[in-house]
Amino acid sequence: MSLSVRDKMRKLRERRGGGNRSNIRDIFFDFEPGDNLIRLVDEFREVRTHFIAPAPKRSDRGLCQAEAFKGDDRISQVINCPDWDVENEADRGTSDCPICKLNRISGEVLKDSPDEQEKEFFRNLASATRQRQVLKWNVIDRNNPYVTKLGSGGEEKVFGYKIASIGMEAFNDIEGIYDQTGLELHDQDEGCDIIVTKQKKARWEYSAKVAMTKDKPPKVAQTPLTDEERAAELHRLIERCGRQTDPMKIIDALHPDLRDLLELNDGPSSSSFGDDDDPLAGTQKKI
Ligand SMILES: [Zn+2]
Repeated sequence: MSLSVRDKMRKLRERRGGGNRSNIRDIFFDFEPGDNLIRLVDEFREVRTHFIAPAPKRSDRGLCQAEAFKGDDRISQVINCPDWDVENEADRGTSDCPICKLNRISGEVLKDSPDEQEKEFFRNLASATRQRQVLKWNVIDRNNPYVTKLGSGGEEKVFGYKIASIGMEAFNDIEGIYDQTGLELHDQDEGCDIIVTKQKKARWEYSAKVAMTKDKPPKVAQTPLTDEERAAELHRLIERCGRQTDPMKIIDALHPDLRDLLELNDGPSSSSFGDDDDPLAGTQKKI
């Protein structure tokens, strides 16, 4: 009995966001401007996300209203796309995601000779609603390899893995390093550190290269994991990064004009992928 109660409590905590589930904090790795020295460990998990919050620094109102990100019932600023199955790393084949729907609507409007004002609005909306492909990966942060552990005696800094979000731009370089070195970069024994550089150009850009030794000529600096690193627990990426937000909550949080746009286009947007395949689409047109 007590086991099943504990099991249910764990599930409940996970659904509520996982934040309370763990006594470890500061586990998400943020790339700093400049060089970031990290060691990839174990397998990555692919997620598809949307950033839906306002970005006041860019004077961008974002897709959703600021209130949605405050209070106990707040939603996350970056959500997993409801149409992406994190567990199986595959498209669900559904079209439940209101943000992807807005993206499809924008695409339709832009194809349909919009005026200049519409063009600008829908171009921005198309870009803001694009699904982002991100790889979640356990890493050792060489500059600051510590996480905060909350114990009975208070907070304590201990060695711990962090979760990095690696976009496709950096990943293309990382893939190149795999090919060039022939090494399994993420392997406990033969892997090596990499340097991910974050630079501000027209936007933030990411590139990656392998870390080299100071020998002459320099060699790839392989970094077999130490005993401490081997003993530390890797984050379970599905649990940490697979949380889903109810699409209805996302719709509720949208700016009202975007919600209206979604409602107005409810019929056509859901069939925009395959008007030709949908027998009802033809019938509706006749009516
Ligand atoms: Zn989506």
